[in-house]
Amino acid sequence: MEKLFVRVGIFWAVPSREGGRELRVCQKSYPFSSAKQLADPVGVIDYPFSHYDEWEDTRHKGDSEDRYFYPRGRILYDVEHSRRRIFADEYLRLDDPDELVDFYDIEDVELCRDEHYVSTFTHRRRAERPSLKHTILRGRERIGENLIEITYGETKLLVELGKALDGGEELSELEEAVLREKYDAVVVSHSHADHAGLIGQKRDCPCYIGAGARRILQAMDEYNGRTLPRHILAYRDGRPFHVGKIKITPFLCDHSAFDSYMLLFEAGGKSILYTGDFRFHGRKNSDALLARLPSRVDVLISEGTNLGSDKPCFSERALEERAAALFSATDRPVFVLQSASNIDRLVSMYRAAKRSGRIFYEDLYTALLANAAGERIPRPDVFDDVYAFTPRRVQGKRRDMLFEFKKKRGLAGIAKGRPFVMLVRPSMRGFLRRLAEKTNLEGALLVYSMWSGYREHEDVKEFLDEAQRLGLVERTLHTSGHASEQDLARLKEHVSASEYVTVHTQPH
Ligand SMILES: [Zn+2]
Ligand SMILES: [Zn+2]
Repeated sequence: MEKLFVRVGIFWAVPSREGGRELRVCQKSYPFSSAKQLADPVGVIDYPFSHYDEWEDTRHKGDSEDRYFYPRGRILYDVEHSRRRIFADEYLRLDDPDELVDFYDIEDVELCRDEHYVSTFTHRRRAERPSLKHTILRGRERIGENLIEITYGETKLLVELGKALDGGEELSELEEAVLREKYDAVVVSHSHADHAGLIGQKRDCPCYIGAGARRILQAMDEYNGRTLPRHILAYRDGRPFHVGKIKITPFLCDHSAFDSYMLLFEAGGKSILYTGDFRFHGRKNSDALLARLPSRVDVLISEGTNLGSDKPCFSERALEERAAALFSATDRPVFVLQSASNIDRLVSMYRAAKRSGRIFYEDLYTALLANAAGERIPRPDVFDDVYAFTPRRVQGKRRDMLFEFKKKRGLAGIAKGRPFVMLVRPSMRGFLRRLAEKTNLEGALLVYSMWSGYREHEDVKEFLDEAQRLGLVERTLHTSGHASEQDLARLKEHVSASEYVTVHTQPH
């Protein structure tokens, strides 16, 4: 049949007596042999009559008088590609065209949408159907502090719940409002304070974060004498979970915080991909991540920290090379000022230390975070060239924590011991001074390995001043934890989103 005749037609989906719906079709067959002559200038054979022409003859008793009332469509034949094209109302569910395929006994069809085929009935139904929506409450034109609502029908999520970076302890009006608001869940992408800083205070719903990031938060809380609140729950890489009718799939990505994720939200046939903070120039393979991400999403909400900036985005491996060269070029002590939770950087600095024949010191807090991050992360006891220390005398619980580590050194041991690389933090000004009393720090190397914006913070300024007074030589060695402009474009092209929104950007 199919080879001998070309069938084209128009159709309606009309409520059937059994309660479902039936297709009412008007069609015409043409000999396949003369299809070419019958085709119009664009190579298509159309049914020669309109829905208006055919309705009166087609409708049954009890059908509405108005032919627009029912979802409808048109079946054409594309001579050039030898296939049918079916234009149909969206209400006929283009993703599930079994009804039509069964009816026409054909396999190879291409379904198309057309503004013309949206009936009044469809409009009415669509208004009632929920759709997946997003609202950016905060995060445009500022670095970090994203607050995004994602809703579908009755389900309402808050994505990210961070603290304003310059807000101090006080909550802003918006922060107070989202803490009061009723959500089904909060989902955060990673543990940085501008993304997760307030989740401990949102106790009226579950707050989800990656399992590894949760361990980091737990270690931070333990160090500060608190316990992680029980409403903070973990998700895992590639394992979808549901909140109400919204499906959420986390994808592990590379960023300067351990265990960071991109989050895919899906409901009602729509999808939103939110990138959180990410970069493609870290140690994780970006091709592998792209291959796992969908190749089409409706909305892409992407971070844009490095849009319009010329920040260095060389790889973490290249940074390790440069660090190893710097450390090897001196026989003086080496200090690295970096964020304790930047575990990737810790790995780079450890590897560079090893390559230059130095042992590695982590203060108690950093050692606890490295411990929480996992077995393969350089940490005292497990790695034979890593030692713990405390910048000041510790008592109580912290003393117990320190004594859990077998490999640790005090001031005198550090001063007399092997050449080292030591991770330091801005709060260690006093420690540096005391160490300088035991050993000469003149000409020692201080590597600044953080975002340059932290230089404006009071404690960082004071630390750098102290280091200079003690004769340390400062060098900057840092690469961004955020995607370069090029990589943002690469992701955008891969997911070919219909709508593109950037957050986490510099004010312009
Ligand atoms: Zn951020
Ligand atoms: Zn971040």
